[in-house]
Amino acid sequence: MMRIVLLGAPGSGKGTQAQRLQAKYGVPQVSSGDLLRDAVARGTELGLKAKAVMEAGQLVSDDIVLGLIRDRLSRPDAANGFILDGFPRNIDQANSLNALLQDIGQPLDAVLLLDVRNATLMERLAGRRICPKCGTVYNVHSMPPGATGCSKDGAELYQRLDDKEEVIGKRLEVYERQTRPLVEHYSTLGLLRTVEGEGELEDVFQRLESAALTRGAAAGQVKVRKQKSAPKTAPAVTKAAVKRTPTATKPATAPAPSTRKKAGKKKAGKKKLGSVSRAKAKSKTTTKKSQRAPAKKKAKVAKKKAVRKVVKKASGSRRKAARKK
Ligand code: AMP
Repeated sequence: MMRIVLLGAPGSGKGTQAQRLQAKYGVPQVSSGDLLRDAVARGTELGLKAKAVMEAGQLVSDDIVLGLIRDRLSRPDAANGFILDGFPRNIDQANSLNALLQDIGQPLDAVLLLDVRNATLMERLAGRRICPKCGTVYNVHSMPPGATGCSKDGAELYQRLDDKEEVIGKRLEVYERQTRPLVEHYSTLGLLRTVEGEGELEDVFQRLESAALTRGAAAGQVKVRKQKSAPKTAPAVTKAAVKRTPTATKPATAPAPSTRKKAGKKKAGKKKLGSVSRAKAKSKTTTKKSQRAPAKKKAKVAKKKAVRKVVKKASGSRRKAARKK
């Protein structure tokens, strides 16, 4: 049983990873984008309504998408779970989903956020090519130079209309404005698990899988990040670009939790050390001062004594002199 939502910006790899989870666990991937594209391809009334909106990179109306999702989840293969990919995309959809899942008695186990830097998203989306026959997804950046066909069936690959550069920006903007608030929403509900979505496909899958299977832990606390040694596929991006442009919440260059923890500890240690040495230094100063204080006092007392002695002596000799007179 696996009832999860895959959350993430366009290009974060939700579809690819959902297919892998589906293949391994036998729970269906329910992609709102695929359902809509299918409706467009079949030329249904709903598809005709959705087509222009999709090509503009905007969100199709909630009613249309919710209808498609409701139908899909009522199919027998979804009785033992589902992997929602691309739905919900805004707070209203999340609330509708919640009501729908309550109705069918299938509450969510977790919401997995695939965290990917904006620069990587751009590269992935602009370079994405798809096989019209088998649906295999390629990226021009990782294909052999000059290749334009599917390596499995030779079909000529195509580019999704909404993967054209002019639409990508719009989609990322829409994600930021409408979908991003779901991170907070599901985090508050204790369902969110953040998974670092960059690196080798297999590594991302393993992180996602372990996040999906984590039971018992407070879901909101789970953050699955890649190990420090994991290979990087993404181009070097400055931290400023990462600046959580919209999509990502943590840079992929961030060290793995243990490392970060260590780094944090080290830092904290340093800080501690700093304060300790400052305290020591302070105490040293205090000790010196306290040591100096009694010495001064002693000297003062001794001086007073000496004065008193001199005065006594003087008055003694004055008395003596008076007696002689
Ligand atoms: P995707 O394949 O998930 O990137 O979706 C492609 C397009 O389908 C999006 O840019 C939207 O136009 C539309 N779409 C997919 N899912 C939704 C959704 N949950 N709500 C509204 N529109 C959606």
